[in-house]
Amino acid sequence: MGGFNPAVKLEERIRQALNDEFLRNAVKFTTGRLRSSKQQAAEQMGNWEEWRERGRQIRLHTIAHLDYYLNQFVQNLREAGGYVHFASTAQEAVEIAMQIMEEKQAKSVVKSKSMVSEELHLNDAMAAKGIEPVETDLGEYIIQLAGETPSHILAPAIHKNRQQIADLFSEIGGEKLPADTAVLAGFARSQLREKFLQADIGMTGCNFAIAESGSFVLFSNEGNARMCSTVPRTQITLMGMERIIPSWEDLEVMAAILPRAATGQKLTVYMSAINGPKRAADGDGPDELHVIILDNGRSQQLGDPEFQEVLNCIRCGACLNACPVYRHIGGHAYGWVYSGPIGAVLTPLLNEDQDQWGEVANASSLCGACYEACPVKIPLHDMLVYLRRRNVEAGRTDATERLGMKTYKVAVSSQRFYQLALKLGQFGQKPLARNGEITAKVGPLEAWNRLRVAPALAKKSFRDSWKELDMELQHELVELKPETKARMEAILRKRGNSHEN
Ligand code: SF4
Repeated sequence: MGGFNPAVKLEERIRQALNDEFLRNAVKFTTGRLRSSKQQAAEQMGNWEEWRERGRQIRLHTIAHLDYYLNQFVQNLREAGGYVHFASTAQEAVEIAMQIMEEKQAKSVVKSKSMVSEELHLNDAMAAKGIEPVETDLGEYIIQLAGETPSHILAPAIHKNRQQIADLFSEIGGEKLPADTAVLAGFARSQLREKFLQADIGMTGCNFAIAESGSFVLFSNEGNARMCSTVPRTQITLMGMERIIPSWEDLEVMAAILPRAATGQKLTVYMSAINGPKRAADGDGPDELHVIILDNGRSQQLGDPEFQEVLNCIRCGACLNACPVYRHIGGHAYGWVYSGPIGAVLTPLLNEDQDQWGEVANASSLCGACYEACPVKIPLHDMLVYLRRRNVEAGRTDATERLGMKTYKVAVSSQRFYQLALKLGQFGQKPLARNGEITAKVGPLEAWNRLRVAPALAKKSFRDSWKELDMELQHELVELKPETKARMEAILRKRGNSHEN
């Protein structure tokens, strides 16, 4: 399982993931660990729900006034000496980034983790111009060497186990390396050190952009973002237009909830704030700082009551770790850059071709675990339902599903039809039902029964059982004292009336 392959249909991608035992075990192990760390961190806080609500309010307010805060951020950053570029599409963002690289005659670019860069497929564009992109986040470095794409917002190489990484590094290094975390991290460090020193440009993402000062903040656990933003002479930062928060005070809340939700950490190891290019008194930093602010479909969600809240996302990855679907199939099966519940919502919203991407909204059980996990309370499960409704309204569902739903609609539209459908079902299942279960893998049951067992329709419906119970009670009344009998008869009469109503 390499990276995303949009030519393959969702169902096939899911089948491939389910058949990959290494992937399933690796994803299950890491998401389980991240989930329980997050749980512990939230419990230790004591008032996690209050923090979530505070985070939500900050994001709701910011996105509701995004134009104002974006302007404020841009103005302040320009005053500090930074260059700001707006890109309305991925293509435009790539062109801006490539132009800066060409002006600087860049040969190599060191990069810290940026999902926007993945969204732009920037590494391919750079490679096509003979510029070497070097991923310096350990997870990103691993998948770059493997020729793959990230399969988790925070842990890009979550689908790989230690042995696979050791094999990969051994191949690159030309010597057998043990599957030992310290040895493997040491190998990556030794390979990357020279790259930092040689790079012409450093490229980073942006966790939060602070409107009141024109600064932006990078969270990292490995220190590589700090290296990318201090060693090379030119820095390019890529940010989605929704990354803004109004003030440093708001950052306090974000810095408390993001790492806890993501990995269970109280704080990330490094939190770097960048306030413009290097000034005369600074010891380090880039001479030139460019920030590319990307729209790419985001502004279309503004003002949409069903989807605007998706812009509140702070990319913590907690919804992925909580999602029973993601935990079984990992990230590549979703087909695009973002995976898990947030990916199932963002992918159809940020891509125009709905025939290709609309179906990703089906990769969810709608259990709501993503909402419970989300530190800013985004109702992803509701959005998935709205996206499915869009698919139905646009006729993007298969013929069997449409027929099934039409039949269901008729069956539940009147009690008579419903009873008749039940009787037909009870009769029709007879050759297949054994001990209350249908295990046969035939027709529409084939996919369902591959991993679980379909329950058979009960021989007697609830209504039939209820009627029998009523009759038994009537019978038992004969044995009761006259006053109890009168009371019971009154209750039964009342119940009979409400049935008729
Ligand atoms: S939707 Fe919520 S839980 Fe998922 S990545 Fe975004 S902020 Fe985190």
